[in-house]
Amino acid sequence: MSEIYNRAQKSLVGGVNSPVRSFSGVGSEPVFITKAKGAHLTDTDGNTYIDLIGSWGPLILGHDERIARAVAERAGQGLSYGLGTPEEVELAETIIAAVPSVEKIRFVNSGTEAVMSALRLARGYTNRDKIIKFRGAYHGHADSMLVEAGSGLLTHSTPSSEGVSASVAKDTLLAEYNDVESVRRLFEENPGEIAAIIVEPVAGNMGVVAPQPGFLEDLRRLTEENGALLIFDEVITGFRNAYGAYQNETGISPDLTVFGKIIGGGLPVGAFGGRREIMNHLSPLGGVYQAGTLSGNPVVMSAGKKALQILKEEDPYGKINEKIDRLEDGFNKLRDRYDLDLSFGREGTMFTLFFNKNVPTTYEEVLESDTKAYGKFFRAMLKRGVLIPPSQFESWFVGAAHTDEDINKILKAAEDSFEEMRESTDCS
Ligand SMILES: *Cc1c(COP(=O)(O)O)cnc(C)c1O
Repeated sequence: MSEIYNRAQKSLVGGVNSPVRSFSGVGSEPVFITKAKGAHLTDTDGNTYIDLIGSWGPLILGHDERIARAVAERAGQGLSYGLGTPEEVELAETIIAAVPSVEKIRFVNSGTEAVMSALRLARGYTNRDKIIKFRGAYHGHADSMLVEAGSGLLTHSTPSSEGVSASVAKDTLLAEYNDVESVRRLFEENPGEIAAIIVEPVAGNMGVVAPQPGFLEDLRRLTEENGALLIFDEVITGFRNAYGAYQNETGISPDLTVFGKIIGGGLPVGAFGGRREIMNHLSPLGGVYQAGTLSGNPVVMSAGKKALQILKEEDPYGKINEKIDRLEDGFNKLRDRYDLDLSFGREGTMFTLFFNKNVPTTYEEVLESDTKAYGKFFRAMLKRGVLIPPSQFESWFVGAAHTDEDINKILKAAEDSFEEMRESTDCS
């Protein structure tokens, strides 16, 4: 065991500050990173890795020195004032200009905080208590989002984490992603009680599952018919597939949108925005309370501004798509050669390699994936210097910093890993 992991386990819970970093889902020891450049990470033992985690989404430009310089420059003027700064106005204007449904925005410090605040705003605006979310979707760790389906005949939700009260959980109703009937039923069973639907327009946190044609449109129609708000959680999808939000590609206008990750350029951020009329219900204009000591922090805002500026100027999305085309093609060939139950779940620049015969379209199908085989593959890739997400149920992130050579190396490492996995099954 590495020395730093040993120490970490004594001082940090499980040795980490966020559970997925423990690598416990893939039967490996976690790595501890000291530095990064472009698409490459270096750990405490001096090993280098091609980074396909991308800090879980923010690093679409890779570990970018231009953003780091913008941060250093802004930091020289003071780190925080707890007062307004021009940078927060500028980043707000930038996002509003890129996402037509967003007329006003508020910045917070994480996606979790943004979701929690957007849900409060939706409840305050509609004067209703209940929220619909989709099973397998992740919206951060606010109490009301940590729910699972209860057992038995009643469709009551129960907490999915200790410490979440049953009374909070009961106001979150669970529907099935890509199954509009499950949503319609909840509206029928709870007339006049549902404040909002919250949805990742592309499911990214169960592994990447694309929305089926018409699904998001149906959610828009059902919410309008029932006086509920539609909230798109674009924490991953925002500025991911194209400059702007995923909603721009669909032509659907949600009432509220949640952002995070890319808009902070790699520093801690979250934001929620939407129709002016709804946003004006927030304090200090309205009665829905929301605040934050470090919200809109100028250093964070400068990182976000720089990231969005580069994305707009350089428009790397076509090239990122081409790199993922090559990976998809390469993995399909390896699947055929080694006769593997593999599928490439993808929507634009988001993708997951599923150890699953078919591309999953529902959470139920996602759960049929072979997580043991995924764990083996993860460890085989790690050994070869490629760091894929330490869980089957995550999106992989390829960005502007990955070179053609990186893509070649990833595919070569995959080939060698499948070869090794085949040998180990032959022996057993
Ligand atoms: C990452 C994520 C969040 C939570 O963001 P944090 O900054 O980790 O709190 C919320 N929603 C989605 C869709 C995410 O991917």
